[in-house]
Amino acid sequence: MRPTPAMSRPRKAIRHRVLILGDQLDARSSALEDFDPVRDRILMVEAPGEAAHVWSAKPRIAVFLAAMRHFARALESRGWPVDYLALGTHPHAAIEAALADVLARDPPERVVAVEPGEWRLEQSIARVATEAGVPLAWREDRHFLVSRREFADWARGYRQLRMESFYRRMRKLTGVLMQDGEPAGGAWNFDARNRESYGREGPRDIAAVPRFAPDRITRDALEAVERHFPGHPGDLAAFAWPVTREDALDALEAFVRERLPAFGRHQDAMWTGEETLNHSLLSVAMNLKLLDPREVIAAAELAWREGRAGIESVEGFVRQVLGWREFIRGIYWLDMPGLREANHFGHARPLPAWYWTGDTRMACMREAVGQTLRTGYAHHIQRLMVMGQFALLAEVDPKAVADWYLAVYADAVEWAELPNVAGMALYADGGRFTSKPYVASGAYIDRMSDYCRHCAYRPKVAAGPKACPVTTLYWHFLARHEEAFAAHPRTALMIRNLRRMEPGAREAVSLWAGRVLESLDTL
Ligand code: FAD
Ligand code: SF4
Repeated sequence: MRPTPAMSRPRKAIRHRVLILGDQLDARSSALEDFDPVRDRILMVEAPGEAAHVWSAKPRIAVFLAAMRHFARALESRGWPVDYLALGTHPHAAIEAALADVLARDPPERVVAVEPGEWRLEQSIARVATEAGVPLAWREDRHFLVSRREFADWARGYRQLRMESFYRRMRKLTGVLMQDGEPAGGAWNFDARNRESYGREGPRDIAAVPRFAPDRITRDALEAVERHFPGHPGDLAAFAWPVTREDALDALEAFVRERLPAFGRHQDAMWTGEETLNHSLLSVAMNLKLLDPREVIAAAELAWREGRAGIESVEGFVRQVLGWREFIRGIYWLDMPGLREANHFGHARPLPAWYWTGDTRMACMREAVGQTLRTGYAHHIQRLMVMGQFALLAEVDPKAVADWYLAVYADAVEWAELPNVAGMALYADGGRFTSKPYVASGAYIDRMSDYCRHCAYRPKVAAGPKACPVTTLYWHFLARHEEAFAAHPRTALMIRNLRRMEPGAREAVSLWAGRVLESLDTL
């Protein structure tokens, strides 16, 4: 390793070597609460292996690098010593190797770090510290409202884990959207009002998401991504993510002012060429810890209390952050490392090649995959009911699907990605927290978007050259699991519909599905 100038200077033994990972970018974090610039030193590492262990897309890598570089600069400007190992200035592929080297050269009294968002890193960092003979102090990640232990304690009380009961408990505990002990607006959720499509005319008057023009530090990071990861998918031409706390706060303010009021009604809708609609795009800033979820929730709640946004929008949004986000993180730590191996249906097909290019005649997949690769973003229903459900219906190996999701999204961190992919989208965990697999025919996508109008296939056709592959594989999936789904109250209706099909039609769908599954790459 080529030491940074600060590291080569002789000095007194370090008290705390504070390791800051790429998604821990908050100067108020627990790892820095007792930081002493005279006795402690920070270590930050740009590790190429983190971008290669899944074949990460350029926007995702760039978000991390740009935000890390800005954060290191902000710490340095406080006079805090930071050993920042930038790409190309050190020989280590992995963070762990860089840490081992630093500990060997300059052993501190202790390593201090916030608990990581990834099981693999937690294990390997602990191993490095043990091997170096340096005590390691994990500090709690305070960027969640519920600690790992609190979630585990809550989960112990339930046979089935359901987000709704967790969410209601969180509302009561925090008092968010509560009035005199009752849920604001008279209901715990307004889900039923959150599922409208845009109708035939499509969305109108949606405020644009603010774009943050790359400054010099970000431009350097983008250039480093192009130089070090030339063959990776994705595009940096339109890079405009907030990568500093100041920009993240601006993004939050603009969302609450301009898009939150209409967030609720069309939360599940999709539209060609409309990549962001009324969504917040705040997951990136929250996952990097540039924003605290508490301030995000508080800003949304205040908008409701001051009459700037209706309850169906604010509750719909708060449910995502206070409910789903915390719940998913709790599930991750409860179910790792087994979750990574989960494969309830025993699916083993490779991911269709067009997940890496968007080059398919299926308009829904072309749109959703295309924007994902271009920007690093797709909203929840695109991830769940377009790309996720297709991977399930196409019987793709859950590990291959999870690796893809972890690689392509700018907000991808494993604690958020894996339960959503393995648990919610693929039912690979056998229904740990969902009551049934999220599957629907092409008719659902047709109802919730205009994609089918631009498609080579027909959503209602289940067999033959014009058949919608989603519809074909949906019926095939139900037929394969007919017995199990017939016995389950949440899926029995689907099976009754399947059984209404003429035997000849059912046979034709089955034959056609076989052909579709054999030609996934060329759909
Ligand atoms: P909005 O629609 O504006 O929602 C507000 C916020 O709620 C989000 O920013 C996010 O922080 C939170 N949120 C909503 N739903 C979830 C959820 N199911 N899990 C966790 N947080 C949630 N989210 C990630 O942050 N990282 C991922 O890697 C990720 N992978 C996903 C993979 C699949 C298959 C699915 C179905 C969902 C995934 N999600 C992931 C959750 C969700 O899709 C994204 O958080 C959301 O689309 C981000 O866009 P947004 O900020 O505009 O969200
Ligand atoms: Fe997607 Fe089928 Fe609609 Fe085409 S017809 S856009 S494949 S759902």
